[in-house]
Amino acid sequence: MMPLIDTHCHLADPRLSGDLDAVIERARDSGVISLIAIGAIGSVETDGLTVEIAERHRDIFAVVGVHPHDAKDCDTARLDQLRKLAESSRVVAIGETGLDFHYMHSAPQAQERALRAQLELARQCGLPVVIHCRKAESRIVEIVREVGMPPKGGVIHCFSADLKAAEEFLELGFYLSFSGILTFKKADELRAAARVVPAKRVLVETDAPYLAPEPVRSRRNEPAYVRYTLEKLAEIRGDAVEDLAAAIVRNASALFGVALDAPAAAPESPRRP
Ligand SMILES: [Zn+2]
Ligand SMILES: [Zn+2]
Repeated sequence: MMPLIDTHCHLADPRLSGDLDAVIERARDSGVISLIAIGAIGSVETDGLTVEIAERHRDIFAVVGVHPHDAKDCDTARLDQLRKLAESSRVVAIGETGLDFHYMHSAPQAQERALRAQLELARQCGLPVVIHCRKAESRIVEIVREVGMPPKGGVIHCFSADLKAAEEFLELGFYLSFSGILTFKKADELRAAARVVPAKRVLVETDAPYLAPEPVRSRRNEPAYVRYTLEKLAEIRGDAVEDLAAAIVRNASALFGVALDAPAAAPESPRRP
């Protein structure tokens, strides 16, 4: 079976945590060899719960941080709690942080302060950063240019902007992670960007329980559905699905610094003398 990875899902979300064992089982059954579970939404308890989930499963890793929606709560005490959680070897990145100028659940100044603090935290912890970006591409580029990319790099999760933004993020060294949005009818600009991202910089994710891809769009999203986004991405790019899946496993392994089960190489055709 083709090895897949879901690089962004919220397993501690109550919509998934209720039947988490079944959710994980279905992911494994569909070839998902690793899950990157993001805390970050709500209080620090979500992060703690996410680390616990990762500690119980060898194929699940955790990311801890403060979501831009909750940036107003990103004070020194919260950052200290995150630093403590990040001591666990199961924590592989800081985030999701970033800017969301669509919903504005926290004031822009608070969001920018929290982003700068978490870029610094990632640097201190020697971890990459997971960035959430909505209607704030140029501002994120400016801030990262100013503060500097954490040495372990980062990913723009659920990348949903255009070609120009993609090029700027790539130039800074980011990976770009594509979600179910890629499968939506209206996402032509996004598909144009997806066509040109180098294979060594692409990732895929579900962002479960949000954003289920076509053809399961009306359902609760879960990691097993990451294959639909991968298949769409391969179709758009004209890549063989197996090759793209293998590249994504390598990319995720490099970014998050974890050894993932290497996908088996395609059997070579026997050589004839
Ligand atoms: Zn997000
Ligand atoms: Zn998310």
